[in-house]
Amino acid sequence: LTMYDQKRKVRGSVGVFDEELHEKIKIEQQMHEDLRHAIGNGELCVYYQPILCAVDKKVTSVEALLRWDRNGTRVSPVIFIPLAERIGLMPEIGTWVLNRACIDASQWSFPQPVSLSVNVSINQLLGGDFIHSLKQVLDSTKLTPSSLSLEITESVFAKNETVVANQLQAIKQLGVKISIDDFGTGYSSLHRLQSMPCDFIKIDRSFVQNTDEGSGTIVRATMLIAQEFGCKTIAEGIETHEQVERLTGLGVDYLQGFLYSKPMCANDFITWYNEN
Ligand code: C2E
Ligand code: MG
Ligand code: MG
Ligand code: MG
Repeated sequence: LTMYDQKRKVRGSVGVFDEELHEKIKIEQQMHEDLRHAIGNGELCVYYQPILCAVDKKVTSVEALLRWDRNGTRVSPVIFIPLAERIGLMPEIGTWVLNRACIDASQWSFPQPVSLSVNVSINQLLGGDFIHSLKQVLDSTKLTPSSLSLEITESVFAKNETVVANQLQAIKQLGVKISIDDFGTGYSSLHRLQSMPCDFIKIDRSFVQNTDEGSGTIVRATMLIAQEFGCKTIAEGIETHEQVERLTGLGVDYLQGFLYSKPMCANDFITWYNEN
């Protein structure tokens, strides 16, 4: 190859790369645009997944999980929530979820009380009017504060430690509970945990589903931590009876997973509850 050929070859591949990148950016920007209009277009809805008491297998709560039907095609929250977070839409979308879920839950009347658990993103939590909108929704729906829990991932502890701690204190003062989601997978610090008022620790699906020695050790350590801090534990991603045996054997308090039910729309959840 001559110098000229080499240069041309490099340039040529840069050209292809440019095109691909350009296409990718275009697709992403289209998704941004669509997401901005998702609320207004009525494309968002909240699904509910039951959480059961490990002892008697009765439903004690549900986790609210956001769904987006983008022009009729469902997009996974794993994809669009980080995107919404990046483009600054999460406070607005999160507030919508909180309102929708609290309205739904306030209309339920089951023989046993069913609590509600709602995921809250870091930018939503740190948004200036989070506590205000939380108060407002409790007010307007008359939901008992202690029947609401907010799920926060460990990653929120990675930054803004003081601000996060203040927000969590304010949440606790309203009587609302706090769950740490995906425990063990993220930026964990026992020191920080100590200053966090948490009611539930959610053991991540990966530790529930993997049966290797390491996962077992992490679950046992988590149980000790929860006991020390006076929190209850929830095992996520239960799909088999073996997992039920294993996790209840380790002392987990609550179970959540496809074995019991996938997340369902509000109406299907009511039907499911009445049939179970
Ligand atoms: P997450 O909060 O850890 O929610 C649990 C996820 O595990 C849900 O996925 C649920 O459908 C799934 N899951 C539950 N049981 C099983 C099981 O037995 N097997 C398997 N394979 N999966 C199971 P989903 O609904 O796709 O949500 C993914 C993540 O998106 C959530 O993880 C949460 O981080 C985020 N997310 C969903 N809705 C919201 C929301 O309203 N606000 C915020 N900030 N994040 C949300
Ligand atoms: Mg969650
Ligand atoms: Mg989780
Ligand atoms: Mg998870």
